[in-house]
Amino acid sequence: MDIHQSIKDRGILTNVVVASALIDMYAKCGSMHKARELFDGMPQKDVVSWNAMIAGYAQNGHAEKALETFKQMQSAGVMPDIAAFASILPACAKMGDTVQGLGIHQRIMEGGLFSNVVVATALIDMYAKCGSIDKARELFDKMPQRRVISWNAMIAGYAQNGFSNDAIKIFELMKHSGTYPDIISFSCILFACSHAGLVDEGCTYFNHMSNSYCITPTVDHYVCMVDLLARAGYLEHTLNFIIKMPVKSVVVVWMCFLGACRLHMNLGLGVFTATLLFDLDPKSTATYVLLSNIYAEAGRWGEVQMVRRLMKDRGIKKIPGCSWIEGHKKVHVFGVGDRSHPQTQEIYEKLEKLDWEMKKAGYFLDSRHSLNDVEKEEKELFVCYHSEKLAIAFGLLNMPLGTTIRVVKNLRVCVDCHTTTKFISKIVSREIVVRDANRFHHFKQGQCSCGDYW
Ligand code: ZN
Ligand code: ZN
Repeated sequence: MDIHQSIKDRGILTNVVVASALIDMYAKCGSMHKARELFDGMPQKDVVSWNAMIAGYAQNGHAEKALETFKQMQSAGVMPDIAAFASILPACAKMGDTVQGLGIHQRIMEGGLFSNVVVATALIDMYAKCGSIDKARELFDKMPQRRVISWNAMIAGYAQNGFSNDAIKIFELMKHSGTYPDIISFSCILFACSHAGLVDEGCTYFNHMSNSYCITPTVDHYVCMVDLLARAGYLEHTLNFIIKMPVKSVVVVWMCFLGACRLHMNLGLGVFTATLLFDLDPKSTATYVLLSNIYAEAGRWGEVQMVRRLMKDRGIKKIPGCSWIEGHKKVHVFGVGDRSHPQTQEIYEKLEKLDWEMKKAGYFLDSRHSLNDVEKEEKELFVCYHSEKLAIAFGLLNMPLGTTIRVVKNLRVCVDCHTTTKFISKIVSREIVVRDANRFHHFKQGQCSCGDYW
């Protein structure tokens, strides 16, 4: 880059302030490689240069590298400051990494930084995103002062973890405390309502938003409303709502509607919406997968083949499903039907044993449901070995008795894996938390926090 060259020519690259600013610039342009090169070449680094690297990795989606750099920073004897914690906590949240998160929590407490509202909020957000919602609440209650961002983190946390009524309680508490809800608070509360099918409450908040708070709804709010109304089964009503929306009806709104058409097995509206989406976003895998599932559920196998052919012709590939779990200070990743893990034999034996116990307890594989999931992983044949089941079996084999098993998955959990996990949580008396592409599922004693509504 020109600026880089001119700084180099003037011999001021050794100046820590200049070099850190340059690292920051590269990171903001997404050139992490260049940033690292410059960083490694710095004769001395201060907290600002370390922060620029950590924030760069975190913002460019390299959570693992951000964590690694954060550790290196401490090994180099540099004390992390507020900015470092504010960057690293979202990276932990992204990885679902509570072990690292706990270490960072301790450092925050030792450094007396919990009184900083930005750091404390990031900490709450991290625990909530890792599925430790009780821990998030405990910290929230201890906060010496709260801002609207802190309330929002707590509302969103409850919503994502499936505790919609608690999200509503916190929202009301915020209003009573004299804090004004902002545009994000309303996104969070509508998200909470849509996830639990709370139609009346959702509609009330939606109206409240513009009438009492003069906040104009954005696409985010409309998506929540469409999800809420359509999933509750009011398909025609939702269609009217979409048509009347003052924002341009965007892909995500229709995609959400298509999902609801599949849920309610409405072939006519489903085909109509998919056709519309093929025009709006011809490369989206989800449209093809949803349409193919809608046809499959209606037993229209000819059309299923047609959609599959269309996908092939247009070069559209499904995203392979994968799940990960932490164990022995390492992250273990599993694909569907994966046999690459060193403990493969034990894992499959465990699943077979569990399968036998589940059948004794009344479980059966519903083949209709195996076709049912939104972005189905590979073939039906593999439904028994979906990635999250392998990760759960790994957890059961390796995590100390009594601890919660936490799994993260890149796609949505399918119906069979959901049922299976409910059975497993009861058979082994363990709490299992699965974070999928959309939300958290807390499985306990045969039940899930989502109430089978996801
Ligand atoms: Zn599955
Ligand atoms: Zn669930």
